[in-house]
Amino acid sequence: PVVTRIAPSPTGDMHIGTARTALFNWLYARGRGGKFLLRIEDTDRARSTPEATQGILDGMAWLGLDYDGDAVSQFDRAPRHKEVAEAMLASGAAYKCFATQEEIEAFRESARAAGESTLYRSPWRDADPATHPDAPYVIRVKAPREGVTVIADRVQGDVTIRNDQLDDMIVLRSDGTPTYMLAVVVDDHDMGVTHVIRGDDHLNNAARQMLIYAAMDWPLPVYAHIPLIFGPDGKKMSKRHGATGVKEYQALGYPAQAMRNYLARLGWSHGDDEFFSDDQAKEWFDLDGINKAPARFDTKKLENISGQHLSVMGDSAIMAELEDYLSAIDAPALSISQKGRLADAMSSIKGSAKTFGQIIEKARFSIIDLPFDYDEKAAALAGSVSNGILDELTPHLQSASWERDALESAVGMVMEARDIGFGKVAGPLRAALAGRTATPSVLDMMMVLGREETLTRIAAFRA
Ligand code: GLU
Repeated sequence: PVVTRIAPSPTGDMHIGTARTALFNWLYARGRGGKFLLRIEDTDRARSTPEATQGILDGMAWLGLDYDGDAVSQFDRAPRHKEVAEAMLASGAAYKCFATQEEIEAFRESARAAGESTLYRSPWRDADPATHPDAPYVIRVKAPREGVTVIADRVQGDVTIRNDQLDDMIVLRSDGTPTYMLAVVVDDHDMGVTHVIRGDDHLNNAARQMLIYAAMDWPLPVYAHIPLIFGPDGKKMSKRHGATGVKEYQALGYPAQAMRNYLARLGWSHGDDEFFSDDQAKEWFDLDGINKAPARFDTKKLENISGQHLSVMGDSAIMAELEDYLSAIDAPALSISQKGRLADAMSSIKGSAKTFGQIIEKARFSIIDLPFDYDEKAAALAGSVSNGILDELTPHLQSASWERDALESAVGMVMEARDIGFGKVAGPLRAALAGRTATPSVLDMMMVLGREETLTRIAAFRA
């Protein structure tokens, strides 16, 4: 059975690249009836924060990336990491190194001066334990010095590292805490991880981590190192390119499903399919479809995918996510009556909106209550000309049956009587109903607002 994981370090806002890696692991496991696990790599106590951990949990929840069991804290497992380091020591796969920081620094300095390799070769590697001093030590793994290590990577192909370039890395520090390299391998092994899908910035680590698997005689996971996400300029995606945090994308108003769809396409493809459901993605996702070249983040494409998802999402699904969006951006929650009116307006606006923010903007007319503000353009329409037009329209609206056709002919009668175009009537009407001049269609708005509210807003604008 497949077991994948995402193993973020809680040292800052959850990055969009972490979300993409999580998604790939989630799709791979979920499409194969496997398990997807979450491990918080909080071993670095100085840089890990509870806020960052919460940000990861929130990001995963927002993106709908459900994981099996509880999130595992790597720090909590430190005793187990130590146990494994000691087991390697006992089997002779690792050794105690008593070299001091000063000795190692001095070695590096003279190697640099002589233009030689600064790879540290500890004299303690083959020392007789009888000669060991009673002093602090670190545990180092005994790395092979001849031959090569081949990472059989499912994305990068076979990557060969010369063993004479590997150092005897430290697995346990002198204070008994594990290094990152050790913790990752022990946790992946104990958690039963079968597939390690992660950013290719970890490719070199894989060669070193393989030493620990070999030392413990543990089966290797399948490795798939995916290229990082680049910005439109072909450089690693960073704040210069715009939003990089998962939270920021939530606040930009993208539906989670659109985000999953877009992120899935970022570095993976299934033919020409751009727009798909979660079920399709789970069925199609595989390691062979992962591209070797870095993907470029394209906000336009994300917006298009987002718009497509919104246009096919059910109104109640949109309402539910819209409420989460409002709370994510710290906007006031909608009242029951606002929700009712917004739901009525939804069908006429969702086809043209690309984000929840745009839905709120387009639906603004339905959720505001008198007295509301008029923007500059709407306010500029107030005056005798508009008053004349609205006065002429009012009796038609009073008597019309409240249906689209009847409302259209009410507007038509004013156009005819005054010999003016549609825009001349629609302008003041938009201003009156929405306080804006860019709005959904006046007929849609009147249908949603109903006769009484429509007439009250017209009267208020005219006053
Ligand atoms: N904690 C590492 C990171 O956040 C991930 C390690 C891994 O996936 O093996 O980059």
